[in-house]
Amino acid sequence: MSEAKETSFDPEAMRARYAAERDKRLRPDGNEQYMEMTGQYAHYLDDPYVEEPTKRKPLDDEVDVAIIGGGFGGLQAAARLTQAGVTDFRIIEKGGDFGGTWYWNRYPGAQCDIESYCYLPLLEELDYVPKEKYSYAREILEHSERIGKHFSLYEKTLFQTEVRGLEWDSEIKRWIVRTNREDAIKARFVSMANGPLHRPKLPGIPGIENYQGHTFHTSRWDYEYTGGGPDGGLDKLENKRVAIIGTGATAIQCVPFLGEAAEHLFVFQRTPSTVDVRGNTPTDTEWASGLETGWQKHRMENFNGLLSGVPQDKDLVDDGWTDLIEKMMHQFRNAKPGDNMDIPQMMEMANFEKMEEIRARVDDYVDDPDVAEKLKPYYKMFCKRPTFNDEYLPTFNRSNVTLVDTDGKGVEQITETGLVVSGQHYEVDCIIFSTGFEVGTSYTRRSGYDVIGHDDQKLSDYWREGTRTLHGMGSHGFPNLFIMNTSQGGFTANFPHLLDESAVHQAFIMSHALASGIESVEVTKKAEDEWIDTIMGFSGGPLGAIGGPDCTPGYYNNEGQPNPNALQSAPYGGGSIKFFKLLEEWRETGSFEGLEFS
Ligand code: NDP
Repeated sequence: MSEAKETSFDPEAMRARYAAERDKRLRPDGNEQYMEMTGQYAHYLDDPYVEEPTKRKPLDDEVDVAIIGGGFGGLQAAARLTQAGVTDFRIIEKGGDFGGTWYWNRYPGAQCDIESYCYLPLLEELDYVPKEKYSYAREILEHSERIGKHFSLYEKTLFQTEVRGLEWDSEIKRWIVRTNREDAIKARFVSMANGPLHRPKLPGIPGIENYQGHTFHTSRWDYEYTGGGPDGGLDKLENKRVAIIGTGATAIQCVPFLGEAAEHLFVFQRTPSTVDVRGNTPTDTEWASGLETGWQKHRMENFNGLLSGVPQDKDLVDDGWTDLIEKMMHQFRNAKPGDNMDIPQMMEMANFEKMEEIRARVDDYVDDPDVAEKLKPYYKMFCKRPTFNDEYLPTFNRSNVTLVDTDGKGVEQITETGLVVSGQHYEVDCIIFSTGFEVGTSYTRRSGYDVIGHDDQKLSDYWREGTRTLHGMGSHGFPNLFIMNTSQGGFTANFPHLLDESAVHQAFIMSHALASGIESVEVTKKAEDEWIDTIMGFSGGPLGAIGGPDCTPGYYNNEGQPNPNALQSAPYGGGSIKFFKLLEEWRETGSFEGLEFS
């Protein structure tokens, strides 16, 4: 199959353009370009949603299980433990309510990009069908609260409490969980459900500390300043010149609302996102009433199958996530005898084709051809997190909205009154940081505390050269500790699916240990070593398609920096379908292989 004959673009020129765009953005400081929200920046983390901080005495009692985090991970861990007969557990949550990501991210337009029928956990258990194909944040937050009420989790949760340390006491065989409230809670087991995008970050732009106007990060939206709410109506911005830095999945959703409200909006762009069709629809009530038992798991598996490139009888979700896979499968189906069936090449061609479609969409919506050109992404689909929105691109046709493209370099400087790009100063009343969350830093730094296991071994040291676990969930030397993480575990774009599989697996082990009077469950060194070999054996596996060294820098590829630990800390390379099956079969054998009980 000759590349050029069958395509409307020149693949060689496209490769060169993508490489040039990547090279332009590579920078030696990688993850170090960002700043932690500590010291003078710590106030960015204040909880704007808690009206009255709760007061309580420190606790030093004991529970069977401490669950760290009350987001989807913690909620699913609690639900699956309850179903497995374990009820003496306590959730420890930093925020004032359940929801995690969806508690913090209430910016205008916040919405889930993954189809709600797959994304919202435990829909069948709660007999709830979301209102729309793609839920807004409010409905997801309400659903989190619904899970909390259904499983009676409110009375088992310490809100507004942040874990500061976790230490194994080998004499009493209990974890000691220390918090910012001076708690020292003893727990037989701990489940760490900290969340993958949990620590917002700031860009280390020179002069950031000098700015005298108003600022906030999108994950702590300041409605007191902007007016309005998650549905928009940001009336207090009427006389304000507003800057937003960043054009990732968050900015794509809130920019249309800012454009509608601000006197003037400046969107500072380093790399454009892929912005595909949203196509939201209200839930068909007839369809919803006809759903049969097991429908949600079936749908989640169908979606996950398509994302993993495993052909399904039908594409139940049929959206922008599954479209690329469908394009690839189409090439296979239409291949004639004698055609070159070079799979990587076919994938690349399907990817080019998809990106051409995304770029053509910009021309369809943006009137000014110069602005349109700047909004076009030149990299492979899935180098960056894809986005889906119908209002973002037309926002740039508004006379009060300016795209400030930084040609891949980022904002040069922040002054007392504004921002500088290409020597031009933009004076603004407010800067909104839509600059994302820590991903590439160490697991314990992102968790906000270290874990001290047997013989004073720190998890941060133990994982220094890369993650060491069995199934991504437990490490040798850290008994009775369960981790919810993608590193050495499964990976799927529908993250709650992975969390649920982990929750079921952990509940299986913990309920067995508690029912059998087993004090300590620990991954053996041998099982851990073998699992590391398994992970390394995939050399990145199919996940190489996500991020990768030839991609524009971003959190999918460690900001374009070679990461010596990347192979060992990668998710299971056989894909999530195989990984979930592997866990299920492990449970079915009932032999708890790789675990040592005492
Ligand atoms: P991202 O990390 O995706 O985006 C950060 C943005 O800030 C990027 O556009 C980045 O540019 C830009 N940036 C960073 N530093 C500078 C600088 N110095 N000058 C100019 N621009 C800069 O964060 P988001 O909050 O947008 O999204 C994070 C993740 O949250 C998503 O990837 C997704 O997983 C999740 N999310 C999910 C949603 C959903 O629907 N389920 C909705 C929203 C978010 P560059 O690209 O060049 O690095």
